[in-house]
Parts: sequence; C-alpha cells; structure tokens
Amino acid sequence: MNKVYCCFPGGKHKALTMSYDDGRIYDRQLVEIFNRHGIKGTFHLNSGLFQSGYGKRVQPEEIAELYKGHEVACHTATHPTVARCPLPEVIEETLSDRRALERIVGYPVRGMSYPNGSYSAEIKQAMKNCGIEYSRTVGSTDSFALPEDLMEWRPTCHHNHNLMELGKQFTELHKKQYLYLMYVWGHSYEFGEGGGFQPMEEFCSMMGGRDDIWYCTNIEFVDAMKTFKSLQFAADNSFVHNPSAASAFISVNDAPAVEVKGGATILL
Ligand SMILES: [Zn+2]
Repeated sequence: MNKVYCCFPGGKHKALTMSYDDGRIYDRQLVEIFNRHGIKGTFHLNSGLFQSGYGKRVQPEEIAELYKGHEVACHTATHPTVARCPLPEVIEETLSDRRALERIVGYPVRGMSYPNGSYSAEIKQAMKNCGIEYSRTVGSTDSFALPEDLMEWRPTCHHNHNLMELGKQFTELHKKQYLYLMYVWGHSYEFGEGGGFQPMEEFCSMMGGRDDIWYCTNIEFVDAMKTFKSLQFAADNSFVHNPSAASAFISVNDAPAVEVKGGATILL
C-alpha cells in the first residue's frame, strides 16, 4: 500500500508564520521588514479602538493596502479580558470586530487572538460559533509541533523569548518525516517604543528566502491543513480525489511531493 504523507504547499515540510496584535502604527515598519524578506504574518486588530487615545493605531483607510499579502484577523472590538466578561458581550465584541474588519478588507475574517491571552472552554466554543477557526494564546512553547487545538493555538515563542536560538534550530531541522511549524508572536510597539526593530530585522534576514520553508499567514496554515484533511483517498491508497478548490501537496512513498490540484483525481 502506498505510504502517503501530508506536505505544506510547494511540498515543504517546514512553515513559518508571524502573529502581531493591536494594530499600533509600528506595524508599518514591521510589515516593511516582513515584505522585504518574504515573510508573512497575521495582524490581529481592534476595530473599536481605531480612534482611541490609547496608543496610535493604524487607520481604517490604510489597512487594506498596508496588510496586503498578510492576514487581518480579529482581536475583539475593544480588547476586554474576555474570561471576566459575560459571554454575550464576548460574542458581540467578536462579531462586531469581524464585521468592521471585513468591510475594510473584503474577505471573511476567520482568525483571532485572545486579548490579554484570556479565554475559557466556554469562550473557545462560543468563538467557534461566531465563525472563528483559530485563536492564539500567549506565552512560548519553545516547540515546532503543529497545534493540537486551533482554538487554543500556543505559539513557539514571543519575539523576546529565545528568538534567534529557536530560529537557528528551525533552520537546521532536516528530518523530512515530520512537519514543523515556527510561530512567533508579539506587538510591534515593543520594537517601536523599545529597543528598535533590529532584532526582528536580524531574525527575518536569517529566516527569509529559504527553499525549505513555507512562509504563511496563520489562516493559510489552517486552510492548508483543512485541505489535506478533506482529501478523499481510495481504501487501498491507489488514488486520491481533492474536492477543495485549493491544491493539496502530498508525498507518496517518500518521493518528492506532488500537487493534487483542486477538483482533480490522480493515481498515486
Ligand atoms: Zn492585544
């Protein structure tokens, strides 16, 4: 029987994604660094705080252009510590943020990060019911394992936590029998008001432009995993049908990955 492995798009086995919260104006410099190195990320925005006096925010009219090629995602409208709030309020905070961001970017906003890293089992379920497909927590796992629970997505590291060491370890991973994900999170103001962007510049120049890394937004990672899961394999693994619109990438018997185009049925 054929031995089939899931691969990331392009047949890669390593993925890098970045995740930045709050939409402060320092995102402009951060996006410029990511773009220069071909690195992609997700920006979790509070649509109810665009005009707030607390920290200057990226304005609605520049959002679509600034974050082009990256993902804009939900961070609730006004950033409450949601585990302390009544559940209907959390739902309204999330749906109103989705609606406001979707009016700006023009695609379904399906990602989230929990404000102040606050969540509960009840909130996780409620967010799913609001159309949210993943939500990031805070902290650092120091791990490149794929997320087990997308509604409690634990990042590899905050950018102030062993960033260069972990990045170096990640570039040195060569065992193709595993899929690896490096997931970095933070806030751009930590560079803008702190020690400057040099650490991120160094990280991105080390990580960018590598043939064996897939650079993705958070939702692109989620979508690629869902596309693989939706593949329909014959019981003897001799052929496969891809019912999705997007391509899937699989490796058969350790051969280089093949693309299974959306709608196609191919012999393995
Ligand atoms: Zn935040």
